Amino acid sequence: MSTTAAVPTVADVVAELERHYPPTWAEEWDRVGLVLGEPCVPVRRVLCVVDVVPETVAEALTADVDMIIAHHPLLLRGVSSVAPTTYKGRIIHQLIKADIALYVAHTNADVASPGVSDALAGRLGLTDLRPLQPSRPGTPAAGAGRGAGRVGRLPQPMTLTELARHAAAALPATTIGVRAAGDPQRTVRTLAVCGGAGDSFLADATAAGVDAYLTSDLRHHAAGEHLATGGPALLDATHWATERPWLDDLAELLRSAPGVEALVSDLDTDPWTVHAASPAAGDPAVDEPVADDKEPRP
Ligand SMILES: [Zn+2]
Repeated sequence: MSTTAAVPTVADVVAELERHYPPTWAEEWDRVGLVLGEPCVPVRRVLCVVDVVPETVAEALTADVDMIIAHHPLLLRGVSSVAPTTYKGRIIHQLIKADIALYVAHTNADVASPGVSDALAGRLGLTDLRPLQPSRPGTPAAGAGRGAGRVGRLPQPMTLTELARHAAAALPATTIGVRAAGDPQRTVRTLAVCGGAGDSFLADATAAGVDAYLTSDLRHHAAGEHLATGGPALLDATHWATERPWLDDLAELLRSAPGVEALVSDLDTDPWTVHAASPAAGDPAVDEPVADDKEPRP
């Protein structure tokens, strides 16, 4: 941070962020860094979010922040228009009109140490952390414990069922919670985690020799094949819930700048709003005939 200015600027905040999350650590396909905002504008208050969506933008406007730090890129693919009549164009117009800068730290924050998956592992109480997939030697992020996901040890052994309940309680609350795949009685001592969609690291979780792997956005075929070929048990949380813990670390880092107030959005940006558990097989409530079933229904 600049020591000469009383209030840090957008450029100062960007410099601080890039000291912890250099853009060169991001994947080639990723789009990180400053998206909107004049570098010379003072920053007194920031809002940390996973997603830049109309709801979090409304939060930023209400909280009167000068800058949003987001995990997911608002603009990942090429666009030919930012007209306010489009979904993202509307967001961009709102931010520019309110003079709110937008900065993105995505895969560069994923591989950082500490990074997104360290915060997730911390919530679950994991210790002895190491990367699930270390950054490749020769790449900018290589070394110093950096890489995708984390592998660690649980505070005490627990069954897969107990672990699913532990994770649901430890992670930010969502409608869906946590589901698990594999033998419910399997004892879990070591766990791999990856914030966000981690199905591309299923083979790494198997190679790591862990008892279970927690991530989000797991799919039918990939999960089924992984388990059928002897892979660790799986826990599927929601995308937002696995990345939200990192916002606390991010806010803490920003607070190190004198005069900056860092807020964290707790708005669940997962799309899921309803969860209905199927009645269990053999559930008496299902087997019992319904009273007055023969009566014509309105
Ligand atoms: Zn993500």
